[in-house]
Amino acid sequence: MSDSSEAAQDVESQWRRVRTRLRSEVGDAAFNSWLKPLSLMRMEDGEVELAVPTRFMRDWVVSHYADRLRSLWSDESPSVRAVNVRINPPAKPAARPTDGSEETDGSDDRTGGGRPRERELDIGAPLDPRFTFENFIVGKPNELAFAAAQRVGDVATVPFNPLFLYGGVGLGKTHLMHAIAWHIHGKFPNREVVYLSAEKFMYQFIRALRFKNVMAFKEQFRSVDVLMIDDVQFIAGKDTTQEELFHTFNALVDRNRQIVISGDRSPSDLDGIEERMKSRLVWGLVADIHATDYELRLGILQSKAEQAGARNVPIRILEFLAHRITSNVRELEGALNRVLAYSNLVGRPITLETTQDVLRDLLRANDRRVTIDDIQKRVAEHFNIRLADMHSARRARAVARPRQVAMYLAKQLTSRSLPEIGRKFGGRDHTTVMHAVRRIDELMQNDSALSEDVELLRRMLEV
Ligand code: ADP
Ligand code: MG
Repeated sequence: MSDSSEAAQDVESQWRRVRTRLRSEVGDAAFNSWLKPLSLMRMEDGEVELAVPTRFMRDWVVSHYADRLRSLWSDESPSVRAVNVRINPPAKPAARPTDGSEETDGSDDRTGGGRPRERELDIGAPLDPRFTFENFIVGKPNELAFAAAQRVGDVATVPFNPLFLYGGVGLGKTHLMHAIAWHIHGKFPNREVVYLSAEKFMYQFIRALRFKNVMAFKEQFRSVDVLMIDDVQFIAGKDTTQEELFHTFNALVDRNRQIVISGDRSPSDLDGIEERMKSRLVWGLVADIHATDYELRLGILQSKAEQAGARNVPIRILEFLAHRITSNVRELEGALNRVLAYSNLVGRPITLETTQDVLRDLLRANDRRVTIDDIQKRVAEHFNIRLADMHSARRARAVARPRQVAMYLAKQLTSRSLPEIGRKFGGRDHTTVMHAVRRIDELMQNDSALSEDVELLRRMLEV
């Protein structure tokens, strides 16, 4: 291995450790929203360069996490003096608006890689270096998905088109898609693999429409060898984007190019996705990832502990975690990281008691689902209204809208019936709740600020 690639590996593993520590410090919700999208660009002369997709995220990360990033990183490597965050522009200059206004500060002097790689970076999203086949633990619940993903990555032909992967959050869909991409990069370096979320696909399409370079957009997406679209449920109800994806899909299938798509449920259960799209999705192979079982959770914990260099975690602790954190793999990892971070900090071996102590909140969350009280509290905080207004009869928009949002979330996140929800909101009738749910649903279609609020709240409540 050359010196420079060894150095690059060092930096990668420093970055991995910095991320792990940050994640346990800030919690999963903040980590996923702000820190996970950061990608490592390079390290030179003691300066680390990270990239984020948008200006908004850059500003947020800089104002909230810059100091912490720098100090964690200088713990890892004393030679690091600065951590800079820049915007990684989503499209190439040629395909960009000519006024040059948006998100182009930060010099884009990325070098290296042939033509395909550069384009992959432009239209695709960065790949997480940890998400490889080697790091994926296989068990009963995910064996079909894993085998299918490996097949797609391994063969020069198209084994099934598309590969549709589905399962609940945090069960490894994104991991498998990145793993396919890494594998192909290694095995067929000339194949152009593009991975991106359906959300990013939509965003790029809307930009292309707005700036009238739809042709360039179409051309870019239709000439790749492998196209992977993550979380397709995101474009439910977004008809124009779906239509474009549908045409892209057909064009690629015609040219015998591989498509991989993921979703949070089976094609037939994808509400808001057009019928013709659904029927395309089942043309190839549909592979579901089931909820984890105990064996798989234990296997994952053992492998993660080993990767983190923590061989001395008593098996009893791992078993305890595998029994108690049943929600998803992301939380399981988070739990382990917190326990490891704690024992690192206090320098004592891990016991069952400290584990229970450190994870009190997580363990409780895994015991019970989110409650209507939690929802009301969060929503009131978020919109800056009094908790009492969740129950009050006031009808001013400033309180009525947040109240409707809370009812909407109560319907979405709990298994309570409409009358039960109504009672929790100051004894309102079930038709009021139904109306609120419909209204928010409708508004979210067109009001992006509101739909962001709701998404954010949902995410905070779910972790
Ligand atoms: P999804 O996209 O389905 O929501 P992710 O792929 O983001 O889930 O997985 C969440 C986290 O759990 C990631 O850190 C991933 O590496 C990890 N993970 C999920 N399944 C496995 C597995 N079988 N083996 C190892 N890690 C896993
Ligand atoms: Mg995912």
